[in-house]
Amino acid sequence: METFTLANLIDGALRAPRTGAYLDVYEPATGKVFARCPDSDAGDVEAAVAAAERAAPGWMALPAGERAKHLHRLADAIEAKLDELAREESRDSGKPAKLARRVDIPRAVANLRFFAEAVTQWPGESHVDADAINIVLRQPLGVVGCISPWNLPLYLFTWKIAPALAAGNTVVAKPSEITPFTAFRLAELVIQCGLPPGVLNIVHGLGPKVGQAIVEHPKVKAVSFTGSTRTGAAIAAECAKSFKKVSLEMGGKNPAIVFADADLSDANLDTIVRSGFSNQGEICLCGSRLLVERSIYDDFKQRYLEKVKALKVGDPNDESSDLGALVSKPHFEKVMGCIERAQQEGGKMLMGGDAVQLPGRCAGGWFVAPTVIEGLPQDCATNREEIFGPVVTLIPFDSEDEAVAIANGTDYGLAASLWTRDLGRAHRVAARIDFGIVWVNCWMLRDLRTPFGGVKHSGVGREGGVDALRFFTEPKNICIARQEHP
Ligand code: NAD
Repeated sequence: METFTLANLIDGALRAPRTGAYLDVYEPATGKVFARCPDSDAGDVEAAVAAAERAAPGWMALPAGERAKHLHRLADAIEAKLDELAREESRDSGKPAKLARRVDIPRAVANLRFFAEAVTQWPGESHVDADAINIVLRQPLGVVGCISPWNLPLYLFTWKIAPALAAGNTVVAKPSEITPFTAFRLAELVIQCGLPPGVLNIVHGLGPKVGQAIVEHPKVKAVSFTGSTRTGAAIAAECAKSFKKVSLEMGGKNPAIVFADADLSDANLDTIVRSGFSNQGEICLCGSRLLVERSIYDDFKQRYLEKVKALKVGDPNDESSDLGALVSKPHFEKVMGCIERAQQEGGKMLMGGDAVQLPGRCAGGWFVAPTVIEGLPQDCATNREEIFGPVVTLIPFDSEDEAVAIANGTDYGLAASLWTRDLGRAHRVAARIDFGIVWVNCWMLRDLRTPFGGVKHSGVGREGGVDALRFFTEPKNICIARQEHP
């Protein structure tokens, strides 16, 4: 079988890593190597930063509308390859191809189009009084670094690159070494679309080598990171040394809170199930703690389990598969370890708990059954720490106060969903829970204009809309006198 050899994008050209070293890239559904990704080092990052620096004056001098045209061209090119990119994303990450086709790749297109439009529609700020007019200039920073994780590869990669470029910065970006494939395809499309050389550079490789070199580089003015809280903490510490701007989107331990008055229609129950198991639970926004008001707990549990039981774990290429493979062997082992720990903590397996052995081509893949656990104390490790797999715990509660206390009983604070017909309660609870994003009677409905991010150990700063454009620019206040001072 053909093994693809991926390359870096530096100064508008595809380049092999300077050392000639490569990392194996696995297809999670088969457990086999299907590509080689550059094992780049600080030397490659140096070349990328130098190219980005050379490109910066020309790129930032372009009118926003011209930069927007470049982003739209790239979006068009991705859109034209939707099916192919979706298949590749699925192969690289283990997610069902139908999910990549419906969510990941269209969202990459939407990210580029959204920020192309946003930057041209971004209102300026001015403050006027009797003495002066203050005009706020929002200037690009220069060279910025974008570092992204493996769970939504092209989706999150473009989510950072698009606002950085739209705002007039040049970029050195690093996708996850676990899922580098579509970032490589993006590099090919960047060349095809004629983005000026050096405006976007993509350096593949390991976090502690390539990621760290980007973060440490004195010419990199800001770092936008999405990934684990542990890596985020290391990046924040490094950035603090030189007061570098940093935006961190990190882990989560999200609650879905179901009140007895919720409209538990079939469609809503489907959404609640999806909120736990979409993308094998490997979405930072997945609700892995399902809090259910005790008066409806038994009925809810029965209906919920029926729906979870109907989910099909299968070959990601198969249109009928709801869950594909977990992204890597180490991650598969981590999730299986979490399930074992839950049992040691006294959890009762209501469903799943095992690896799934598929026949044929997927016999060596890393599949885990959708797992539902009950009977765990709210303060145990299973209910406080991120698992990032198809594992949901059911937790009964008796009152609004108790639901709020349980929801807040973790170091994380990314996203929560509330299910209730009582609007007053929705407002009250939303205000009292410590999460950056609260969905009421829905989940993962995204409007790209809204501030996206978490509190506590889930994040610092916000992405999306004007927040992202603000992050990637520096405000400069220019005060112009309106009249001569006495
Ligand atoms: P990770 O932290 O291991 O890696 C993320 C990226 O950082 C990768 O590109 C990696 O190579 C790089 N990296 C690793 N060490 C580095 C270092 N020392 N310096 C610079 N870069 C380094 O995370 P992951 O396992 O790829 O992703 C899963 C995590 O991402 C989960 O915790 C999940 O919750 C989180 N996540 C958060 C969001 C969000 O929006 N908050 C979205 C998706 C995923």
